[in-house]
Order: sequence, then structure tokens, then C-alpha cells
Amino acid sequence: MTKYIFVTGGVTSSLGKGIISASLAKLLQARGYRVTIQKFDPYINIDPGTLNPYEHGECYVTEDGAETDLDLGHYERFLNTPTSQANNITTGRIYQNVINKEREGEYLGKTVQVVPHITDEIKRNMRILGESGEYDIVITELGGTVGDIESLPYIEAVRQFRWEAGAHNSLVIHLTLIPYLAAAGELKTKPTQHSVKTLLEYGIQPDILVCRTEHHISTEIRKKIALFCNVNINAVIESVDASTIYDVPLLMLKEQLDKTVLTKLKLPNKNEPDLESWKDFLGRLKNPTAEIKIGLIGKYVELPDAYKSINEAFIHAGAKNECKVRLKHIHSEDMLPENAAEKLAGLDGVLVAPGFGSRGIDGKIEAIRYVREHNIPFFGICLGMQCAVVEFARNVLGWKDAHSTEMDPDTPYPVISMMEEQKKIKNKGGTMRLGAYPCELKKGSKAAAIYGKSRISERHRHRYEFNNQYLKNYEDAGLIASGINPDSNLVEIVELKNHPFFVGAQFHPELKSTVANPHPLFVNFVAASLAHARKK
Ligand code: GLN
Repeated sequence: MTKYIFVTGGVTSSLGKGIISASLAKLLQARGYRVTIQKFDPYINIDPGTLNPYEHGECYVTEDGAETDLDLGHYERFLNTPTSQANNITTGRIYQNVINKEREGEYLGKTVQVVPHITDEIKRNMRILGESGEYDIVITELGGTVGDIESLPYIEAVRQFRWEAGAHNSLVIHLTLIPYLAAAGELKTKPTQHSVKTLLEYGIQPDILVCRTEHHISTEIRKKIALFCNVNINAVIESVDASTIYDVPLLMLKEQLDKTVLTKLKLPNKNEPDLESWKDFLGRLKNPTAEIKIGLIGKYVELPDAYKSINEAFIHAGAKNECKVRLKHIHSEDMLPENAAEKLAGLDGVLVAPGFGSRGIDGKIEAIRYVREHNIPFFGICLGMQCAVVEFARNVLGWKDAHSTEMDPDTPYPVISMMEEQKKIKNKGGTMRLGAYPCELKKGSKAAAIYGKSRISERHRHRYEFNNQYLKNYEDAGLIASGINPDSNLVEIVELKNHPFFVGAQFHPELKSTVANPHPLFVNFVAASLAHARKK
């Protein structure tokens, strides 16, 4: 029978519920349990696909093409197992389902209400993954902070769920903050006490408290928290700030979070967790033998969360190469023809990021011209790949006004243009080319050598594509299509001959990079940048 763990947050947002959930899942997985994590977000958007990255950070795309919260990226990176639409539910989706059922007459004669109809729909979604029979343990992370108006129906659903599931079949972990008051020189437990009181008002006694803190928590403080929050002292778990999120599973292991969870769920503490490969990764991450500097050019660089998966993919690829990757975030709007050399000086490689719309596009194109001409390793992702195609048209093929029709619908050279199937679509949400598609790699290409196979599958999120009408011009001039979708003929990878590393991918390789499987394109881009650094 599947056991359920709920993770709630108190005191403030941004305490890292996603990392704690992923770390606990990692420990349980390392003991041989089949675990998955799902996230319930209390906002009314159906999914984060229509949200500006400034609002919500990166939109993470799953194999089945769901646009989801960036925490799902952490789940995949830690567990190395794919997630799906079922792993991310929003209030918008819950209400949409209930309203559709109401229109279909499913509640005929009844007044449709938050309790029981919305809470029933939340509980139904909480059970979906567990009922698949694929998991021993389902961890459900509730977005938001306890006490928020919008998370109330979820908290009530958890209360009901626990009562229905019976003893030892579910537990609640409450993540909270123990602030340090420098003036008093003390760690303070009061906010945690209040946050637990709020949960109690809603009928939920947390089983375990994970306490985020900048300083170690003494036994005295643990006792105090235990006494005032009705938990055992071994259920007060310290989560002290770590230098990398990848340390957190080991910190939780030291605090015996996994053991406490298994005991409370009456599950056998079978097998000590096997974390050998995880520790090996951490060893490489923390003991680099070299260092490189890579420029990340994008229009959301002020907010690192906007490029979360790219940042993490560099961490995985850096560790694989035993090389520290320093990222220099460059705002594409600050890149001008006259300052390209200065902005890109000293960089060992340049990545042009995904994105939408024309803001900053000229800077991206200018940067690509510079790295192409100066043999600096280049990696373009989605919009970054499209910019490389535009740059090549303008500066190598001599088509001065070439562009993507996303930026210039009337360009005489629409080298990137909207996909046929996209032209009739009016709705914005969930209508891009999304999720995993196969790709055939060209024999003898760099891409084929990097992947070491001829057929791959990668995840997408775009509306525009390479215009095949111009493919011959490109290939004759040296920019070849080395990855093609075998069903639709869409160009998925372009690469430049006679350049140390110049690769553009229409898909998002960063979404599939995990600790256990660093993405080969990132690994090779880092290796090429390292080679470039050594040559300098
Ligand atoms: N805006 C481009 C498109 O829609 C690229 C999207 C992206 O970078 N994810 O095709």
C-alpha cells in the first residue's frame, strides 16, 4: 500500500520545500523505495506556462509536455526519474475540473462548494500517482505558506486525507524557519511555534519539523521546539544552510530524517541508503582541477531562477569534467556591436539562452557573430539556436534583413518561421510544441559523436522552427542540420563545421540533465570551453 508524505511550509516562503522534498525522496530511493514527488500550487493559472519568468522563475517541461513548476526540475535532477502532468497541479486546474464536472451534470441537484467538492478534487489528485501502483511512497509538496488564504483548501484536504488514510499511512512534515537575531545573539523559535499553532487550528498536527537555520540548533532549542509543538525530539530536524543544494540529502541523512519518516510510517528501515554515486558526484563538484568562465546571455539574467535548469546542468557537467564553471550573466540588452569584444572578453564559452519576443535579440545575434568569428565555443538553446541561424543568414549568407518571423513578420528571409500547425492556434496556454520528440542524428556529425548514438529524444517548448526552404544554402555554407525529427523533418540541431564547438539545439537539453546523467551536450560544451581556456 502506498504511503503519503505531505510537506507544508511555515513562517516565510522560499525555505526550500522543493529541495527538502527531493532530498528526502533521494534518501528513500537510495534505500530501495520507489518514490515520487508531486507539487500542488495554490495559484489560479492552469499551469505556469503563461507566467513571466520574473514572476515564477523557469517553466519546467516534462516528457509528456506539461508546463510545470521549477521544483519538478529538482525532483528529476535528484531522483533521475521523469515526472509528468500528474506531478504538478494548480488551483486553476482543480477548479477547472470541478467546473467541467458541474457543467456535465455530475453534481446534479447539489450546491457545488469548496468543501466538499474542491477538497474532494484535491484529494483525488493527491491519490492519482499512488493509485498507479508504481510507487511505495508519494511525497506531496504544498506550495505557499500555512496561513495563506489560497492554501486553505489544500490544508483541509490534507486533514481529511490523513483521517481517511488511517494511522501510519501518511505524515506531515512542516518546514519552518528558526531566525537568528544578531542583536540578541540568539536563534528564535517563536515563529515556528506560531506556525505550528496555525496548522493545529486547521486540524493538523505535524509529525516532523524541518527547521531551516543559519546556525546549528542546540539540544536545548530542539527540546523547546519539541515541547511547544508536540513532536518527539528526534522529529525536530535541523536544516542548516548548505554550500550547495546537493549537500542537503547528506545533511538530512545525518539528521536521520529518512529513518524518522520510515519509523513513523511503519516501513522497514531496510538497507542503509546507497549514496556512493551521489558522494562521488559531490567529490568531483567540490574538488575541481580547473575553472572556466562561461557567458550566459539572456534577457532574464537578473533572476537566476529564470534559468534554473541551465544553471544546474552546468553544475552536473562541471562535476563530470572536474571543472568549476563560473557563469557570467550578461543581459542581452547590454550587448551592442560596439561593446561585444569587451563584454565577451575572457570568456571560455558562450551560451545563448531560450526566450520569447524581440527584447535583447540584437545583442544575442551580435554575441553569436563574435564567438563564431573568434572560434569561442558556442551553445545556443531554443531561441539561442534560432538566433544562430539568423546570424549566419545575415553575416555569412549575406541576407541582411533575415530574421525569425516572431520578431519581424515581414522579413524577406524568414529563416525561422512559425510551424504550420501553430498558425491556426489562438490560445496561448499549453499550445506550443511541447514535450519529448525523437531526433535522428547525422552520421559523422559532432552531435552524433557527443551522444554516441543515432536516435535521441529531447524535450521542446517553442512555436517557431528552422525554415527548411533554406537548408541547402546553410549546409553549402557550412552550418549543417545534424539532428532532424524523423517524423516531421523539423531541424532540431544545427552545428558549424570547422569550429571547435558551435552547436544550436531547438530543444531544451537542460531539462534532462540530472546528477546521475549529466547531459552530454553540456558535458561536451564544458569540455570544449575548458580546451579553449587551456589554449589561451
Ligand atoms: N520564442 C521561440 C519560439 O517560440 C523560442 C522559444 C524558446 O526559446 N523556448 O520558437
